Amino acid sequence: MLFNVAPLLDGRNQAGIILAVFLGYYIKRRFFTSKKRSGKLKNPFAQDSRSPLTPLVIEQEIRNEILKKAFTKQLATEQKWDAIVIGSGMGGLSSAALLSKAGLKVLVLEKHGKCGGACHIFKEEGYEFDVGIHYIGGFTRQTLDRTLLDQISDGQIQWAQLENNFDRVIVDVMSPTQREYSIPSGRGVWKNQLIERFPEERKAIETFFSMVNKVSRQTKGWIMVKVLPIWLVNLISLFGLPRFLSDFYSLGSRTLNDVIQSLTKNKDLQLLFAYSWGTYAEPPNRSSFALQALLHSHYEEGASYPIGGASEIPYRIVPVIERAGGRVLMKAPVSQILTENGRVTGVRVGNKESSAVDIFAPIVISDAGIHNTFMDLLPENVAKMSPTWPLTNSMKPGIGCLSVFIGLRGTAEELGLKAENLWVFTDSSVEEGFNKIFDGRTLDDVLYKPYPAFFIGFPSAKDPSWESRYPGRSTITVVSFAPYSWVAQWKDLTVKKRGDEYNSLKNAIGQQIIDQVTHLYPDLKNAIDYFSVGTPITNEHYLNAKEGAIYGLEHGIERFSPKQASLLRPETGVEGLFLCGQDVMCCGFVSAMLSGLLCASAVLKTNLFNDLILLHKKVKAASAQSQRNKRD
Ligand SMILES: Cc1cc2nc3c(=O)[nH]c(=O)nc-3n(C[C@H](O)[C@H](O)[C@H](O)COP(=O)(O)OP(=O)(O)OC[C@H]3O[C@@H](n4cnc5c(N)ncnc54)[C@H](O)[C@@H]3O)c2cc1C
Repeated sequence: MLFNVAPLLDGRNQAGIILAVFLGYYIKRRFFTSKKRSGKLKNPFAQDSRSPLTPLVIEQEIRNEILKKAFTKQLATEQKWDAIVIGSGMGGLSSAALLSKAGLKVLVLEKHGKCGGACHIFKEEGYEFDVGIHYIGGFTRQTLDRTLLDQISDGQIQWAQLENNFDRVIVDVMSPTQREYSIPSGRGVWKNQLIERFPEERKAIETFFSMVNKVSRQTKGWIMVKVLPIWLVNLISLFGLPRFLSDFYSLGSRTLNDVIQSLTKNKDLQLLFAYSWGTYAEPPNRSSFALQALLHSHYEEGASYPIGGASEIPYRIVPVIERAGGRVLMKAPVSQILTENGRVTGVRVGNKESSAVDIFAPIVISDAGIHNTFMDLLPENVAKMSPTWPLTNSMKPGIGCLSVFIGLRGTAEELGLKAENLWVFTDSSVEEGFNKIFDGRTLDDVLYKPYPAFFIGFPSAKDPSWESRYPGRSTITVVSFAPYSWVAQWKDLTVKKRGDEYNSLKNAIGQQIIDQVTHLYPDLKNAIDYFSVGTPITNEHYLNAKEGAIYGLEHGIERFSPKQASLLRPETGVEGLFLCGQDVMCCGFVSAMLSGLLCASAVLKTNLFNDLILLHKKVKAASAQSQRNKRD
């Protein structure tokens, strides 16, 4: 029999089906019926706000007026704010820009001297380095994500596509068996390429990609639990409905390891299915298959890089906030979220009693991450009232990461660098590299040996504007893992003055990694002009990332269960306090941006997803019409 009715007769399932019907009705009424906006509030997506492209602004002084505008008491208090956003990462800027477009006056306060969080850049010895943007999926055509970004940046951010083979995976590096695989762009192309390379594994490959597609088609279920009332999510979960209704939850409740090992015994294929797990820094035995599936579909059509570098992102979004009467101020460390009778009233900037400035607003949005917000900024008695509070204990910060920034003499063309990334593994086991770094071994076990696993990006080769901005120079960035414990002893010392022992340790790691990079690219040896290493405590300093966890909260399998996913939401249960940023959905530029959409929807009590979808359809229709006109 094709369809077995027995499970439907089970009492729990019957109750589940009734609940599903009720739920469908509730969701339709609550989320797909547009509500009238109250008072002065506008629809941020009422019209297409892209304006004709303006040229790239290269002059640093002009850019600094936006990206480095420093906090002063006068600038922060000379007007009344409708909302204050803590942190200028993509989550914070996206929330602020949407609320500004809706008619609110928003103040963004950033601890660091530069705007953008992980989208900020730094310059040293004539080289410019991105901190946290290497490649972004979904921007090679007019997707919904691209429409959202266009609308909060006046359509001024331009994207360059990476090489068709945007990632290369190098296995058994520096050994006689070293081998390489390329990851191509295009729907279904990688699947077909894998089948060609591993014909005996056709079934495993087809099953894997079919599972990936199932998950990525069902992300609505993931987002939905973040907007439904928590009690309702708990009720639905009680009946096991999420798994029943959505492949996101049925497949997402399996670890990545479980899935790949059940599909194939071929070690290289397992590695290829999982090679990019470093993107969210959770090893496959602890991470959800759903997250890896989202990642594969995110990059399926290729990868893009912002022309002009990552700072173009904040540089183009801040004017949208300021045009609406808002302000984005740097060197503004928020030390406290102010409350009165359990309700948020504003924030305090600065630590010292004498110089601290209190700024008031009925709404405070935190892009600073859950641990910072609940453990450091909110008074403990208020924090404990929030349903989110238990997560500060049950979810740890993710693992520590390090970066090596390398400056080279010579153009990308001269040095043979391409718009691509390399994922380098010293063996073919998916997790062995990670285990070597983390499994209780001492630093000496890792140092002076090949670093077990890392990512290499070539930012200057990805940016078509680079050569005009930095003629005759190139850059490479390497990212890998490093336990916080390796460097925690120096965390309280002043940045850049942490002493010889710390410097020699990080230089030793940096040199080891550079030796491996130059093993792959021998011609680069004589071109290296500069290098510096950022450790977990560097990330802690510049991004306020707890324990150097650049991707915020750990991305373990539980994070994608309906229960935990529903607690990671903009509403905090504390009146006036909302969350945005990578802790709300997951790490990644687009997720942080979408967290802003969720957050602004929660603040405005309206469904901005609907409004965005309507505008997106119009934008696509207009662009199709203009294509037709051009052809005629
Ligand atoms: C090395 C690295 C590589 C990455 N590569 C990619 C990539 O290739 N593609 C991709 O899609 N994603 C990538 N990511 C991830 C992506 O950049 C992030 O997930 C996303 O940008 C995070 O945005 P956010 O708003 O959540 O937080 P952040 O960008 O971290 O911003 C949070 C901001 O809040 C500020 N803040 C914190 N506390 C306070 C306080 N008390 N007062 C004032 N300000 C405060 C911080 O200083 C910070 O600026 C990478 C990240 C890193 C670090």
